[in-house]
Amino acid sequence: MEMSLNTVTVKEKWGLSECIEGCARHGIPGISPWRDVLQAMGVDRAAKQIRDAGLAVSGLCRGGMFPAADAAGRAAAIEDNLRAIDEAHTIGAACLVMVCGGLPPGSKDLPGARAMVRDGLAAIMPAARAAGVTIALEPLHPMTCADRSVLSTLGQALDLCDEFGAGMGVALDVYHVWWDPQLAAQIQRAGSRIAAFHVCDWKVPTLDTVFDRGIPGEGCIDIPAIRQMVEAQGYGSFAEVEILSKHWWQQDPEQVLPLLKERHAAAV
Ligand code: ZN
Repeated sequence: MEMSLNTVTVKEKWGLSECIEGCARHGIPGISPWRDVLQAMGVDRAAKQIRDAGLAVSGLCRGGMFPAADAAGRAAAIEDNLRAIDEAHTIGAACLVMVCGGLPPGSKDLPGARAMVRDGLAAIMPAARAAGVTIALEPLHPMTCADRSVLSTLGQALDLCDEFGAGMGVALDVYHVWWDPQLAAQIQRAGSRIAAFHVCDWKVPTLDTVFDRGIPGEGCIDIPAIRQMVEAQGYGSFAEVEILSKHWWQQDPEQVLPLLKERHAAAV
């Protein structure tokens, strides 16, 4: 698998234009922008610079966040996802990654939040299919269930893929799924529906539930074993390096990118 840089990895130091230049300069063939840096640069301008640099776009992060306390909030989320589909189409992203959303503030209704996710997906799938944008459901570690994603396991994500059919797949992030006793079986079940593969590492101890990811090789995840399972299903696209880390964000990307390339070769 070739390497792709998820722009969140260097978000404190570089905007999207610098990420594109940095990938080209360091020989990293793929990029995956987050929508904040994409919008800051301007979607059309970004699309052109990415094309001119010869980079592939392994995904756009992120859509989702469907649950909301009232109907207006849920409708706003759907509108925002439709814009995300347009953006993904414009930059030629291989998929739009979905972080589906947690409980609405103050709510204890987990089944209700999951139903809102299903309803939100139902509302956007026709537009996604029409635009040719694959919706990649990213299950998140259950520690984020309250505030980020009521979609916690690969099995749950594949249940939704079974239900919705064409145009939907999964984004498999080792950070979120490595602990799952059903991982091997669910990767096999996913088959050709693996739309993205995100790599980083789980540090021991982890000091922050969101912003303390390690670079590959820094933690306890057997990334090569998971990569092999994914490749066995025919996935041959990018391993996207996605490091949300207060530590790594402080480092100079000119040093971080070569290190990530080295770890991508040795520990992915
Ligand atoms: Zn991810």
